[in-house]
Amino acid sequence: MVDLAAIRHNVTVLRDAAAPAEVCAVVKAGGYGHGAAAVATAAVDAGATWLAVALVEEGQALRAAGIDAPILVLAEPPASSFGAAIAADLAITIYTPERAEQLDRAARDAGTRARAHLKVDTGMHRVGVPRGDWDAILAARPGWSHVEVEAVWTHLACADEPGNPVTDEQLDRFDEFLARAAATGLRPTITHAANSAGALIHPRARRDLVRAGIAVYGLSPSDAVAAADHELRPALELMTEVSFVKRIPAGSAVSYGHTWTAPDEGWLATLPIGYADGVPRLLSNRAAVILRGRRRPIVGTVCMDQLLVWCGDERPDEGDEVVLLGRRGDEAVTAEEWAGLVGTITYEIVCGLGARVPREYRDSDG
Ligand SMILES: *Cc1c(COP(=O)(O)O)cnc(C)c1O
Repeated sequence: MVDLAAIRHNVTVLRDAAAPAEVCAVVKAGGYGHGAAAVATAAVDAGATWLAVALVEEGQALRAAGIDAPILVLAEPPASSFGAAIAADLAITIYTPERAEQLDRAARDAGTRARAHLKVDTGMHRVGVPRGDWDAILAARPGWSHVEVEAVWTHLACADEPGNPVTDEQLDRFDEFLARAAATGLRPTITHAANSAGALIHPRARRDLVRAGIAVYGLSPSDAVAAADHELRPALELMTEVSFVKRIPAGSAVSYGHTWTAPDEGWLATLPIGYADGVPRLLSNRAAVILRGRRRPIVGTVCMDQLLVWCGDERPDEGDEVVLLGRRGDEAVTAEEWAGLVGTITYEIVCGLGARVPREYRDSDG
């Protein structure tokens, strides 16, 4: 269950933090598992002026859903998709002269102009124009008659580590890239550098636009940049219902490998959700769910489609609501908690939610 009011709230928090920079809501990977179109619509309603995706296909899907805000494709797509990207009016990230020329040709063939965001590598060393190639790209640019360079941008490697000097070094290098561009007459209307952590804690990174993903969903970029410290609210709850209940004798071992044994006689609940739905198998015998207002431990090995919960003396009923991620009263289970238990980040938890989990929406303000 995704609360669209929480998405809007988080976008408002980001707008206030980043102003006068504008907010680009990153909705790649199915809106970090939340559902791209619904999140995009809520984010735009709350004042996000841009959206970003990883793939041209993701941008096309947003257009098909009726979303007309500017959309940036964050990685250089294959030239074979340029026609589709131009038809969907997507802004395309470019970092090689070959791809720029191909984009120019595709735009000329389509009888229009393509929108390009040139990405420069200031230290992430993943993708982007390396420092040594920047002058060559700038020299080639006047030849791209059908490409409008709308933005120059970069990406920060360590923004979620508050004291890490790499962020300032990257921003210094970004300024050098921009100065060299200006010397050739390229003064893009938009520059952007910050992800969520950059937007929240590095004022220098904010520039004209911040590309915020994880914070839009109300989740923490890292332990050091905690969502709760910035008044962000998690939008997603993962829920199911008890599918089967039984009383087992003390000493009963349960699930694959018999990794847990009941200490006493008591009630065991089966839930119809497992690792295929995004409950990590590493949570076996580690995490808890909220059932009837109390935290109850996941016991035994998490299976592909099912898992078991120990309820001790309290008998649950089939059909009882179970909260795997979310809050009921004073009890909460967070994506941050799961991430800590399995040694990953909140991003991987929500992106890992399975395709077969129905995405449902509510609006706690509506
Ligand atoms: C995914 C992504 C973002 C969003 O990062 P968050 O940490 O989720 O805010 C921003 N920029 C780029 C290039 C990305 O790939």
